[in-house]
Amino acid sequence: MLMAKDRKIPAPTPTLESEAFFKAAGEGRFLIKKCTACGKAHWYPRAICPFCSSGETEWSEASGKGTIYSYSVMRRVPEPFALAYVTLAEGPTMLTNIVDCDFDALKIGQDVTVVFKPSDGGPPVAMFKPL
Ligand SMILES: [Zn+2]
Repeated sequence: MLMAKDRKIPAPTPTLESEAFFKAAGEGRFLIKKCTACGKAHWYPRAICPFCSSGETEWSEASGKGTIYSYSVMRRVPEPFALAYVTLAEGPTMLTNIVDCDFDALKIGQDVTVVFKPSDGGPPVAMFKPL
């Protein structure tokens, strides 16, 4: 068993395209960008849709639910952590961390839910924990 511990998370640097995401994260809301032209959601937030190049993208509140697509537990560091790709219920896959769990019990395909973790002097970061 290898239980996750809270570790120091470097502060993300919001850009013009991701500013709204981090502002909402500070309020505990998980926003993703959706394209109104083709209907697909994407991650990381962009002004131009990566699927159809439309500029008609808008923010929408995501469920915060997803499944683990793949993961890797970083064990040989002072504070082990789990790096993972999580596929959101809305479709996009994001690179993130799995937290608040026993790393040895993680499985591909496992259901997870978003949790916001404070960063070191910056906006909170979206991570996931098993349901
Ligand atoms: Zn599109």
